[in-house]
Amino acid sequence: MALSAHDDGSPAGSSSPTLLLDAGTGVRRVSALLDKRPFIGTILLTHLHWDHIQGLPFFESGDHPDSAVTLLLPPQEDGADAESVLARMMSPPLFPIRPNNLRGSWTFGVLSPDAFGDDGVAVGAFSVTARDVPHKGGRTVGYRVSDGHSTIAYIPDHCPTEMGPGPEGWGEYHPAVLELARNVDVLIHDAHLFPEEVAAQASFGHAAADYAVGLGCRAGARKVVLFHHRPDRTDEALDGLVARFSTYPVSVCGAADGMELAP
Ligand SMILES: [Zn+2]
Ligand SMILES: [Zn+2]
Repeated sequence: MALSAHDDGSPAGSSSPTLLLDAGTGVRRVSALLDKRPFIGTILLTHLHWDHIQGLPFFESGDHPDSAVTLLLPPQEDGADAESVLARMMSPPLFPIRPNNLRGSWTFGVLSPDAFGDDGVAVGAFSVTARDVPHKGGRTVGYRVSDGHSTIAYIPDHCPTEMGPGPEGWGEYHPAVLELARNVDVLIHDAHLFPEEVAAQASFGHAAADYAVGLGCRAGARKVVLFHHRPDRTDEALDGLVARFSTYPVSVCGAADGMELAP
């Protein structure tokens, strides 16, 4: 996900992204947004599962002689440093290059403790707050990001049933996610499952779409973007899913490749 600040000082009419949330295969699209110019900014990872990092070596504007990239990820439970944990996937014999072979200036690090505090941290023109969320297989966070004009919550991988069944059996509406999503303009949330799939599909640690909408309603979000669709979901199934929420007191849409949200 690529974010441009409301006023990032870029030339009129352009909106160069300076903050990226996760780096799955979609990060390749950011190079087109930059007209192949180098990326100067920060990448925040929610966690290290393949679908959130596999785009890194194919991100042309990052792998560029003039790029300047700060990549931050959650502190690891085993204390491993950021570059070496990325290199577990991105190194021979599994992959031809290592993170430090990316061209340009790359800095790899972990989120500071302040990111988990009440006031969050400044990341370029943005204010960012992180909270741990239950998922599966490795520390995972969600982010709340504001540019002073608009605020979003980004919680792409979340298994709320880890915290208990909650009122509908889709998982607990727990404080960490209520805090991240409180009164946001847009909540982008894991909607991998349909409610009837929750019991059988819990093994990958995801949420039901109905939970995402329920969280949006409870937290006072203005809009919920259903995200992280199951790979075998058809467009028709997603259209039908979104239509189910047409009478809810929050605007709901399904995320799609290349979707743009204006403030
Ligand atoms: Zn994941
Ligand atoms: Zn994922």
